[in-house]
Amino acid sequence: MPSAKLLRRPAALGIIGYPLDRTASPAIHNTAFRIRGIPWTYAAFRVAPDDLQSALEGFAASGVIGFNVTYPYKESIAKYLNQVTQRAQEIGAVNTVWQSRSGWVGDNTDLHGFAAGLRPLKRRLSGESAIIFGAGGAARTAAFALIRDFNISALLIVARRPKRAHDFVQWASHLDPLVAVDSASLGSLDTWRPAWKAARLIVNATPVGMSGAKESLLPAAVRFQPDQIAYDLIYGRATRFLTRARRAGAQFIPGDTMLWQQAARSFEIWTGKTFPLKRALAEVKL
Ligand code: NAP
Repeated sequence: MPSAKLLRRPAALGIIGYPLDRTASPAIHNTAFRIRGIPWTYAAFRVAPDDLQSALEGFAASGVIGFNVTYPYKESIAKYLNQVTQRAQEIGAVNTVWQSRSGWVGDNTDLHGFAAGLRPLKRRLSGESAIIFGAGGAARTAAFALIRDFNISALLIVARRPKRAHDFVQWASHLDPLVAVDSASLGSLDTWRPAWKAARLIVNATPVGMSGAKESLLPAAVRFQPDQIAYDLIYGRATRFLTRARRAGAQFIPGDTMLWQQAARSFEIWTGKTFPLKRALAEVKL
């Protein structure tokens, strides 16, 4: 919890990533700081991989008090931090960092964001199976939440790189030995079609769909069913993944709630104040 004095002093925060082409975080946090009367500013820092360590040293030297982490550093940032919360260690991804007396501390607020998007459907998911497309940091966060908090019975990871999918399964199998975790190759539809038909929840944790509504992750041969739930982690746009789910009568969840809720939790960590969700939602257009 920051001191009242710190909340009255100008300070800098930001988000680091690369290439960091598009981020809503500066708009969200600057709006929230203004609404709460906190004189802090939040910027986007495009940091190339070779410069990550020096960027952190620069942050420490210039009084940056906290930052978010996005692609491609959510996994690699941990080795530069002084402490990582148990939750972030278990997930293997950090998206929120703050300066404590003992140095940089990293946590994962994406977990809270992902779970917030699904919470109203918790009962419908209990004992059911899920599919996650993608095997990166967001997929790990989703798998962790589904296995630990949503009581799913089975999880299939569908990814394009077998090695990454295999490593993912190794990791996820340890989260709860009672949950059956397996992987399939995105390009071999026959290997995952049966699981698709049986799944209650289907998550897109790839960036496919970010470039426009025509970009499609799924082959035309698979169709959503009305009893399914489609969760696309991409925010701020109607992706083809979600459009197909909606047209099939399935329930669909865009990544906007995840974005806002992870931001809200980061804000609360840095400031100790409640995030002004209603007002920020009204002011920020994603
Ligand atoms: P990541 O670590 O780079 O993982 C992306 C995954 O998608 C990898 O498995 C990657 O496969 C796969 N992928 C990339 N391009 C693909 C393609 N053309 N076809 C099939 N698979 C592809 O990224 P991330 O951090 O997990 O983020 C994934 C998505 O979640 C992004 O769209 C991001 O914006 C979204 N996200 C949203 C929120 C939110 O708050 N709403 C928070 C976090 C992330 P390879 O390993 O083969 O490259």
